[in-house]
Amino acid sequence: MNSSIPDIQCPPTAGSHTAALDLAEAACRTRGASLTAIRREVLELLYRSPTGVKAYDLLAQIKEARPGASPPTIYRALDFLIEQGLAHKIGRMNLFVACRHASHQIPSLFLVCPKCSGVTELQEQSVMSALSNSLAAAGHRLESPEVEISALCPMCVGAR
Ligand SMILES: [Zn+2]
Ligand SMILES: [Zn+2]
Repeated sequence: MNSSIPDIQCPPTAGSHTAALDLAEAACRTRGASLTAIRREVLELLYRSPTGVKAYDLLAQIKEARPGASPPTIYRALDFLIEQGLAHKIGRMNLFVACRHASHQIPSLFLVCPKCSGVTELQEQSVMSALSNSLAAAGHRLESPEVEISALCPMCVGAR
């Protein structure tokens, strides 16, 4: 995991991430934005941590290849990825996760496991539009496309 050439390490997963990263890069380009090397590296790390990763863990991993990286480097890259709809911030746990959905017409439901801190993104159209509608009826509006719910994951339920 110390290689500075991300594209040829970890053969079992590198292929799928490369394809996803190329897609993300193309999507950014059509919006006039550019997925620079550092942004791409951060996104790749998010892909490798499907249940979410903290900013300082990202920094530690990025530093292996870029010793000069600092927290602002990571936060700027994360802000960009969130702005481009490629990542989400889970405020409750201060975790970042990659988004696998093409677009966010509707908010996503994030199940945050209180036991293992794992995060799962669900796009349940019916649930989320019902939620948005009742919020609107009550005169409220969601602040962000991330709705977080504390829910034990299947693994932690099994471990009880
Ligand atoms: Zn998403
Ligand atoms: Zn769990």
